[in-house]
Amino acid sequence: MSESIIETDVLIIGGGPSGTSAALSLLNYTRLNVTVVEQSDFSSTRVGEHVSPSIFDVLDYLKLSKEDFENGSFLPVYASKSYWGNDQASTINTIFATDEATYQLNREKFDFKLVETAAERGATIYPRTKCLDYKQQANKNWQVTLKHPAEGEFNVHAKYLIDATGRSANVTRKIGGASKKYDTLVGAGMFLELDDPSKKFEQTIESVELGWWYITCLPSNKIVVSFFSDADILSEHKIHQLKNWKKLLQETNHIKHLLHNSRAISNKLWVRNAQTQLTDTNDLERFVAIGDAATSFDPISSMGIGFSMSSAIYAAKHISQELEEGVSTINEYQKDLLRNFNQYHQIKTRYYKEEKRWPSSKFWLRRN
Ligand SMILES: Cc1cc2nc3c(=O)[nH]c(=O)nc-3n(C[C@H](O)[C@H](O)[C@H](O)COP(=O)(O)OP(=O)(O)OC[C@H]3O[C@@H](n4cnc5c(N)ncnc54)[C@H](O)[C@@H]3O)c2cc1C
Repeated sequence: MSESIIETDVLIIGGGPSGTSAALSLLNYTRLNVTVVEQSDFSSTRVGEHVSPSIFDVLDYLKLSKEDFENGSFLPVYASKSYWGNDQASTINTIFATDEATYQLNREKFDFKLVETAAERGATIYPRTKCLDYKQQANKNWQVTLKHPAEGEFNVHAKYLIDATGRSANVTRKIGGASKKYDTLVGAGMFLELDDPSKKFEQTIESVELGWWYITCLPSNKIVVSFFSDADILSEHKIHQLKNWKKLLQETNHIKHLLHNSRAISNKLWVRNAQTQLTDTNDLERFVAIGDAATSFDPISSMGIGFSMSSAIYAAKHISQELEEGVSTINEYQKDLLRNFNQYHQIKTRYYKEEKRWPSSKFWLRRN
């Protein structure tokens, strides 16, 4: 192992929207220096893209505007259709509805701009880097052992550690925090390309006996279509296999018709955990979980990206209070998370209860 030790004020594990928003907040509004560790090379497929217009207020706080992003990063969406509870279309924005246009993101462009800006404003970024070990020292500082494919192993000393690893809450679990899962929702989907850009359609949700489907147009004439159900139902019906997924898609009443003018970009399904989850890190000092690592929401809510960024901003304010003013207020952050989560959980439960067409379906029984 290399003997070199890197000193940083705040070490952020995970370079998704929450990790980079925390980095930007700290760089913009404090004198703390920041290091971000990301396991990937930032080129992996990212899913989840529907955001409310309040994303621009969050970006404004991070000193970024819509114009700073590459063309084609945002596609406005003016309505969405849902076949939920019955087979009649109802037009809504999201279940957490707003009357304004919402947006579909090009996630690769969006996430990349955030990380690029964090690097430009002074963050040290380690891509393709794994975390091997976390130790908290007697003075509460952290020593984290990292491994980079070219640089080998090295240690980082940090005054504060942030878990921004997404739904896996990888760091929290390794250092003894607890995560409560409320379901085992999984999404299995595919990206397609629209042959004729004039044939764009509204974002559509359709519930079926085993779960629900979601389809939407994305920037750059792409489409994403995904099926959501519980992990055991997906494996019981082998829906991870493309032929079974396609068969189920053909059994929809509406979504299948929206795919007539498109072709698959790849014949591979992506599969992602999409469970509702709440992490408890109350007993841990100089540590905070943000974004999906703190609270992860059912994608039906379209709350994940906005929350991941705003939770990062609030966490950064508390970190600054503790490291620059010597006052720990992180418990207030935990209380806010819980309040926000309880509100979300009530609305989500009410929404699922509206679907009563399949009283003996395992998926809907669990939600009624
Ligand atoms: C199928 C699906 C659809 C969704 N749809 C929407 C939607 O329409 N709208 C919406 O707002 N939200 C949606 N979401 C949720 C949204 O994607 C997340 O809320 C958002 O990405 C959370 O950002 P994050 O930075 O907390 O985590 P992530 O985006 O998951 O980023 C975590 C980062 O940490 C890295 N990482 C993980 N472990 C380690 C480690 N040990 N060391 C180093 N790096 C690590 C990962 O590589 C990744 O880059 C959806 C989610 C799913 C699964």
